[in-house]
Amino acid sequence: MNIESLLKYQKADEELYRVEQKISNSPYKKKANELAQLAKKAQTRSTELENEAERLIAEISDIKEKYNFNKSKSDEMLEKNIEDLSVEDLDKLNALKSKLLSNLNILEKMLQKSAESINHILSEFNKTKKLYDDAKTKYGQCKEKIDEESKVLEPEKEKIRKSLVALEKEVEPSLMAEYKKKRNDNIFPVIVPLENNNFCGRCRMELPKVAISRIKDTGVITCEHCKRFVYKK
Ligand SMILES: [Zn+2]
Repeated sequence: MNIESLLKYQKADEELYRVEQKISNSPYKKKANELAQLAKKAQTRSTELENEAERLIAEISDIKEKYNFNKSKSDEMLEKNIEDLSVEDLDKLNALKSKLLSNLNILEKMLQKSAESINHILSEFNKTKKLYDDAKTKYGQCKEKIDEESKVLEPEKEKIRKSLVALEKEVEPSLMAEYKKKRNDNIFPVIVPLENNNFCGRCRMELPKVAISRIKDTGVITCEHCKRFVYKK
């Protein structure tokens, strides 16, 4: 199989690859990726904080309910006429009263602790939200720069693409299809020469003798290691 046309195609494609690399290696692109990750982290944290706040609010409502129950019991007791009570009943009543007071005390402390936690969460939530907003704004600015850069390079890409369309017609269709598949998988160069009669010209992996013996008929063989086409010069 004649692979000269594919080599010619790849030579033109290399220019396109260079332009694509220039775009994807832009410092703005790197920064944008970092910012996107930052925003995502902030978003995850916000959700966690929201869940935590929800849990605390339920906890506070539970404590309040218990507090109100104890308070009404204790109020009820204060209204009781103690003059008619026996000493024994009075002792019981006093014990119950001090138990209720102790309960109220504990519940008050719990309530205070939960309120502090809520405040803490709110403050972290606000900080996280600001972090997210900042990251989003900066991401937008980066994106604009990337678009500007890409716009400048677009005519160059278009010119190369046109030449590729013309060159493609000379290449055997099945070979072309496989080339494009590899190229889409970010493999470049796609086709490399056999080195020292035995090795892949890219990853230097030794290729099987049986495969090499077929290279004359098939034009190319595939390196099992780096998946590239290998041809004999
Ligand atoms: Zn290889």
